[in-house]
Amino acid sequence: MPSRTPRRSSGTPDLTSYDLLAPQLSGGKDSAVTMAVFMQSARDAGVEERVFSYHSSLGVLEWPAVVFDGTRYPGVSELAALRSAAFGVPPERHIEVTRTLPGPDGTRMPHSLLTEIAAYGRFPRMGSPYCRKAAKESVVSSAWTPIVRRLGRELGRPVRILKVMGLRSDEGTERRKRPAFRTVQANSARTVDEWLPIKDWPTDAVKEWHTGAPVPYSWTDDSAPGAGDWAGTSRCSCSLCVFASKRDLLLSIRRRPRLADLYAEVEQVRGDSFRPDWRITDLIRHAGQCGAPDPGVICPDDGPEFTTLVNQVRAALQKEPRKEPQLARENRRALCDGCTAHH
Ligand code: SF4
Repeated sequence: MPSRTPRRSSGTPDLTSYDLLAPQLSGGKDSAVTMAVFMQSARDAGVEERVFSYHSSLGVLEWPAVVFDGTRYPGVSELAALRSAAFGVPPERHIEVTRTLPGPDGTRMPHSLLTEIAAYGRFPRMGSPYCRKAAKESVVSSAWTPIVRRLGRELGRPVRILKVMGLRSDEGTERRKRPAFRTVQANSARTVDEWLPIKDWPTDAVKEWHTGAPVPYSWTDDSAPGAGDWAGTSRCSCSLCVFASKRDLLLSIRRRPRLADLYAEVEQVRGDSFRPDWRITDLIRHAGQCGAPDPGVICPDDGPEFTTLVNQVRAALQKEPRKEPQLARENRRALCDGCTAHH
């Protein structure tokens, strides 16, 4: 059983050798534990002031704040900021970034991952998970650029950055294979190493750590906000992730029916299915007819940001896709005995 005093995995890097320490925060349960473990290491090494935390916001696609039984529960971006502050990073060193594109008047405007999927014409797949790069990795990497330029001038050498992430072996084969420490980028301007300080933590230990933690975990991890039963979704990033489990997807569809319908619109117009094995159109029907977990709460998705997303996605669908949809038309799996996938 892990104690609240963070422990180190083997291969803890020498934090004093980095110019920028950059934990990547999300709303997921692993993120808070990672931040606690990492910040303890930064304090031990006396380099706390080199920490800038980052959250790559997925905007309307990530879990929003909800009010349930008179209590407000924070959304993903808010949770990331709360975690950063709770473990000692001042607000001016917590940076929320999001993907943007030039708007009609020349100013930059948020460009949602779903708009990108609609424009591209294909959903992300295991072999090409472009969503992670487009919506997260490249956005955070760009956000480092001003610091890299400034420090690079001062130091006269490539800036050394440590990217700290909360990935764990328990989350799947791909993550189990990923080393806890590796160099992910090296050029004349920057060297970026990646560290996964809680890679070996089991899921139960992470949940146990959250008992009495200074910041709550996301409401979506429970069967209903505040239930405290960990019977909600098993992950917390895009509400509708193409790599999520069937249960997570069915629950998310029931919690965000308007968002699910928008994904279905993209699927129907482009012809590519949400996943190789299931169309979201079939998942929506299955969730409504054959059973899905009780949502506990339903997000209205009726605000101006959602309307902007709908308009952006529909505008993208009016144009030719950048890629011909041709992947994953076969290999559908039945959702249940009474609700087979429709070809
Ligand atoms: S949550 Fe899923 S769909 Fe969203 S960016 Fe991450 S991998 Fe892609």
